[in-house]
Amino acid sequence: MATLEIRDLHVSVGDGGEGSKEILRGVNLTVKAGETHAIMGPNGSGKSTLAYAIAGHPKYTVTGGTVTLDGEDVLDMSVDERARAGLFLAMQYPVEVPGVSVSNFLRSAVTAVRGQAPKLREFSKEMKGAMDALSIDPAFAQRSLNEGFSGGEKKRHEILQLEMLKPKIAVLDETDSGLDVDALKVVSEGVNRFGAAGETGVLLITHYTRILRYVKPDFVHVFAGGKVVADGGPELAEELENEGYEKYVKAGA
Ligand code: ADP
Ligand code: MG
Ligand code: MG
Repeated sequence: MATLEIRDLHVSVGDGGEGSKEILRGVNLTVKAGETHAIMGPNGSGKSTLAYAIAGHPKYTVTGGTVTLDGEDVLDMSVDERARAGLFLAMQYPVEVPGVSVSNFLRSAVTAVRGQAPKLREFSKEMKGAMDALSIDPAFAQRSLNEGFSGGEKKRHEILQLEMLKPKIAVLDETDSGLDVDALKVVSEGVNRFGAAGETGVLLITHYTRILRYVKPDFVHVFAGGKVVADGGPELAEELENEGYEKYVKAGA
């Protein structure tokens, strides 16, 4: 079973030298295929930094600790290698790309991950099937990538990628702003489908507890001050919804 293991991860913004700032201060986390984990924490606690570090974003420097996927050193892999190894990082392609359609983009992504281009006809069939399952309008495939996408459409595209790429581990950073109810539902339904299928481990990063009204995570981790400060089950999300992060912020300081 696929396992992502994060051990004592330390990450700085910048090149790791003088003037860089340590954001992650010893993160420990294990995510297995078939499990849904929620990371929740206040703004500025380093949640997105964790996602970027797993993705291999050049602005973030790992100064200590390890990240492995089935024992393989993820930190040693290029961004493409991470995708081929079965990691899906939702924020990897947030940019608008005029002239590149959703369909073209998906075909490139599938080619990159599978190591060879799928036959056009088979790919089209597969894509139609996935879009059908997600109730996405067929016209969506011809839209330019992210251009004028609503929050809900961006999320739909994200989940469509998941459906097509079938990663071992998916890291979804639901950024704290601009996630309307429509978008929230799309993400939730996608995550629940993947959770039920049991083949993908999902790490859902979020500030808002309300998404957990729709998604039932198996594990909840509270993030504060650049590390995980509490672990629990769905009951922990409920506690956070009622009481907020205050007591954990103090613990993480
Ligand atoms: P969260 O996602 O939990 O809101 P972030 O990981 O975005 O937290 O940010 C954690 C801290 O790191 C914040 O203090 C933020 O200002 C800082 N930080 C993150 N990315 C950068 C960056 N590229 N440059 C400078 N500071 C950054
Ligand atoms: Mg440490
Ligand atoms: Mg964030």
